[in-house]
Amino acid sequence: MRDYTKVTERLKNLEVPIELIGSVYAKENMSLPIHQIRLDSSAHEPQQVLITGGVHGDEPAGVEAVLQFLERDNTALLKNFSFLIIACINPYGYVHNTRETRGGIDINRSFETDDVAEVAIVKKALGQTQYSLAIDFHEDYDATGFYLYEGKRDEKYIGTELAAAAKAVGPIDPEDPGEDAPDLAEGVYKVATSWGTQGLAPYLLHFHSEHVIISETPTVWKLEQRAALHLEILDTALNIISKKEK
Ligand SMILES: [Zn+2]
Repeated sequence: MRDYTKVTERLKNLEVPIELIGSVYAKENMSLPIHQIRLDSSAHEPQQVLITGGVHGDEPAGVEAVLQFLERDNTALLKNFSFLIIACINPYGYVHNTRETRGGIDINRSFETDDVAEVAIVKKALGQTQYSLAIDFHEDYDATGFYLYEGKRDEKYIGTELAAAAKAVGPIDPEDPGEDAPDLAEGVYKVATSWGTQGLAPYLLHFHSEHVIISETPTVWKLEQRAALHLEILDTALNIISKKEK
């Protein structure tokens, strides 16, 4: 059992307010809260960025990366960006170290349905907002290195630059995820339209975000290294986007 109160306590200790957006049933007389955090830009018309972790409960490095992002000083980034952040979309899975929800549902295959509590909570939080970038943090139990998936409506991909920067944290995974995800560059695969919109990232690409990234770290790495990889991908992407804006 993993201690979810440690996650909520770290969120409550932030200098910014956290918002309860829903809760999921855990057991009799106990539910687990899902929180969102908004970091508002100092700019007049900022670019909106969505950061999510913990869709798969047995992939804690994504939650850790989100918490570390929230705990550091992001003043420079807030000159260009506003953030909507959901640290842990699947708290039941996080506690019980399962990929799926309490009901055995893979949230990342359920965004075309409306009867999964976690999915409904995320959809409500998204509202009508359109994002410049959405990044979702994952782990791979079989991988030995990192890789990422990228989807971009204008097909001007930045994955090559992301992978080059992330190599400072660890190696690229040598395995190819297969035909479903066409290669964009070494360690970078396309969020393909053939995936439909059941997954969070393809759902966001279709309805909410012109650019999506799924960052995948190998579980064999230490937690700190996995979290560092996610943040390296995120920071590199934000750096590239803010430069292109100017
Ligand atoms: Zn995952």
